[in-house]
This record gives sequence, structure tokens and C-alpha cells, in this order.
Amino acid sequence: MSELNLILLGPPGSGKGTQGERLQEDLRLPYYATGDILRAAVREGTEVGTEAKEYMERGDLVPDDVIVGVIGERIDKKEAEDGFILDGFPRTEPQAEALDAKLGELRREVSAAVLFDVSDDEVVRRLGGRRTCPNGHIFHVESDPPEKEGVCDVCGEPLETRDDDRPEVIRNRLDQYHAKTEPLIAYYEDRGLLKRVDGSQAADEVSIRIRALLATLKMEEEL
Ligand SMILES: [Zn+2]
Repeated sequence: MSELNLILLGPPGSGKGTQGERLQEDLRLPYYATGDILRAAVREGTEVGTEAKEYMERGDLVPDDVIVGVIGERIDKKEAEDGFILDGFPRTEPQAEALDAKLGELRREVSAAVLFDVSDDEVVRRLGGRRTCPNGHIFHVESDPPEKEGVCDVCGEPLETRDDDRPEVIRNRLDQYHAKTEPLIAYYEDRGLLKRVDGSQAADEVSIRIRALLATLKMEEEL
């Protein structure tokens, strides 16, 4: 089979991080969460990493072309010769264009963009129900409640709602997501690369759907 270059799209709380890690194991492809590979490039002092570091130290946003450079450094390694799974980038249409240009330079292209479809209400329910203790143990009022309400099972510290998990903050993140990502969804749809997955189902069910989707993709390629 030729290479499988996947992009994961979806709102916060859509479960794409979980599925990305499962895909990494299933497909034996490297999983690149953009924040992680950016920090790794800075730590390793690669050429683009050094450039990224200057922006980060000034507290500035790292420009798209620098992030694309960091991704390019990883993709151009042996570890990614059969493909890769990219999560967290692109988030906007210009970023998708920049990524396509870089992939073109490397004689590669996106195989599919997998969109995790989850309603805003479901995201608010998932993230808004999270409770965290000062030591970072995470519970959920519905899906994973602690034995004693408001107390961490592991360390006995009080559980709180993190600022990031407050409903108004989540709604704000979702508004930003929709504003920036909807053009991006259209971008991949226009190129026939968009694959939608119902992300509201249980994680195991979502995994099965993605496997089926990738099997179809493979068959289409072999035709
Ligand atoms: Zn705890």
C-alpha cells in the first residue's frame, strides 16, 4: 500500500486525541500532535526549532510557515515514510494551503482529512463535566464520577472545575473553532478528501468506524 497521510479535524473534546493514539498503534504510523512536535523541535535545536524558539521566547505566536517547517522536518524522516497522523494543524484554510505546499515540495499529499463530528452541546457536556484535583487526576460527573462527590479517589484532594472547562469558556472556544475550521472543512471537502466520523459515539464504536473508513480508502486506492 502507498503511504497514508492523515489529518485529524474536530472540536476540543471530540475524542480525536484518543483516536489518534489508537490509530498510531493500529497503523504503526507516527502521531504528530503539533504542540508536541513543536516543543520537541525546540528542545532538539533543529534548524526550524531554533527559529520557533525565538517566537516562543518573545511570547509571540509561531508563524504558520515555521510550524509547517517543523512538520516538514518530521515528515521527511524515515519514521514517516509510510505515512503520518497529524493532529492540531491545520486549523485554518491558509494553514492547509501552507501544509499542501510543503507536502508538494516533499512529493507527498494528504490522503484524507478525518472530521470528528460532535455537536456543541455534546462538547459542553463532555468538557463541562470534568472535575480535576490539584494533582491532575481527572473525573467526570457523568461518565467517570468519583466515589465521594467533590473528592479525588486517588489522593483525597478536592475536585474543581478548571477554568478551561467552564461552560462559557468552552462555548467561546467552540465559536472560534467554528469560525476558523468551517472554511477548512470546505477546503478538504472540495478536494474530495473529507471523511466524516460520528464522534458522539463511544470511543470503541468510533474506532470501528475509522477502521472501516480507512479500509474503504485503501480499496479505492487499489482500484
Ligand atoms: Zn487527585
